[in-house]
Amino acid sequence: MYQPKSLHAEEFINHVEIMDTLEYAQKNKENVSILSEILAKAEQKKGLNHREAAVLLLCKDKSINQKIKQLAHQIKLDYYGNRIVIFAPLYLSNYCVNGCTYCPYHIKNKHITRKKLSQADIVREVTALQDMGHKRLAIEAGEDPVHNPIEYILECIDTIYHIHHKNGAIRRVNVNIAATTEEEYHMLKEAGIGTYILFQETYHKESYEKLHPIGPKHNYDYHTEAMDRAMAGGIDDVGLGVLFGLESYPYEFVGLLLHAEHLEAIHGIGPHTISVPRVKRADDIDPNNFDNSIPDEIFAKIIALIRIAIPYTGMIISTRENKAVREQALSLGISQISGGSRTSVGGYDISELEDENSEQFDVSDRRSLDEIIYWLIELGYVPSFCTACYRTGRTGDRFMAFCKSGQILNYCHPNALITLKEYLQDYAAPKTKKIGETLIQKELRQIPDAQKRLQTEEYLKKIANGARDFRF
Ligand code: SAM
Repeated sequence: MYQPKSLHAEEFINHVEIMDTLEYAQKNKENVSILSEILAKAEQKKGLNHREAAVLLLCKDKSINQKIKQLAHQIKLDYYGNRIVIFAPLYLSNYCVNGCTYCPYHIKNKHITRKKLSQADIVREVTALQDMGHKRLAIEAGEDPVHNPIEYILECIDTIYHIHHKNGAIRRVNVNIAATTEEEYHMLKEAGIGTYILFQETYHKESYEKLHPIGPKHNYDYHTEAMDRAMAGGIDDVGLGVLFGLESYPYEFVGLLLHAEHLEAIHGIGPHTISVPRVKRADDIDPNNFDNSIPDEIFAKIIALIRIAIPYTGMIISTRENKAVREQALSLGISQISGGSRTSVGGYDISELEDENSEQFDVSDRRSLDEIIYWLIELGYVPSFCTACYRTGRTGDRFMAFCKSGQILNYCHPNALITLKEYLQDYAAPKTKKIGETLIQKELRQIPDAQKRLQTEEYLKKIANGARDFRF
């Protein structure tokens, strides 16, 4: 039976509820009065439930689809403004004991180069990332209790936080590692992580078990219930995601919303972020072997509908997607992007020969971080390297309340401008610096509170004179 408040995977991600929802959506996807009721609710910008969102997903009416895009764009502006948070992934180790059939790290792949960063390697990698201008990382690792135990992950986090090269610093480490125990989540919390990210891959249990034939990740319930253990372990911010292409997208979409509703029902806070990866080519992986790939247009609609259904959630798109797809996604709800990414273990330190064979997936957007920053500014966005919320304790329900009460323009906007200023001073190419400075002057006027505006101007001057790391 479907029970959003249950702690059992099969009750909160309930197959019958998903199938009923899809049947309801199929039946009503052309029902004008239901569609207009749902759109009227969406316009209130307070979100939609999984049934309502599913009807919009299946609706093929062109004018409604246009309306969905406009609404998503507006909601994104209302909740997140024109800021885009920047991060980079850091691959620690590709040793893995799982058999995920879509992932090149799977245990049966005997020709991939297996690597694990030593602490000295991490210093080199993070120094290279800091020299690009990064302040926020997402660390990634395969699951391997011998090569990558929790002690290794914790040691890496500690090393990362202690590296200060020139004016560089990594101020927030998000973690994307396999589902683990409440005790280990507590250790991650104590290590000062930002968001714990775990992609569900697929919400369809039967497919999940086939796609993960061996290894601890085979256990669907353990994987699906991970976020509840993470929150019980003290982690406030969790990031959901589906690997689109593995199962049919309407099923995954409803599963994802059920998961978000479950977190909200149990913990009073929904997902801090939602990622939208699609299966890509990689060593030993041909995406054509997965017959649920989704075209760009549907992908864009899914992003828009997640934004409408869960207005407050951060949304992440990685360099799995190319420039054109990312550009459209930004206007529909994405609030965080990676830039200058390498998905191989040891890929950032150019003194090491890049070994393409250890990449986790083909990167489609190969531009440098500076090119990404220039592109965002040209498009009218404010790239942000801000990490203030987490560092000032605005996490979990405190962040959500802050976001929902519209305080973002008085806090996030100034924080974005002062962290962008640091980037321009320390790392930007001359032409990026030029348009960035003009943008900062223009965007200062968007800070509603006069006191905060004056304080921001003060911080900007201090940064120009060499001081660093201010925040609201
Ligand atoms: N090993 C951890 C786990 O099992 O959750 C960490 C995750 S892995 C380093 C990061 C994510 O990359 C996976 O959760 C999966 O969704 C995604 N991924 C794996 N193979 C991929 C591929 N061929 N194309 C795109 N994304 C892929």
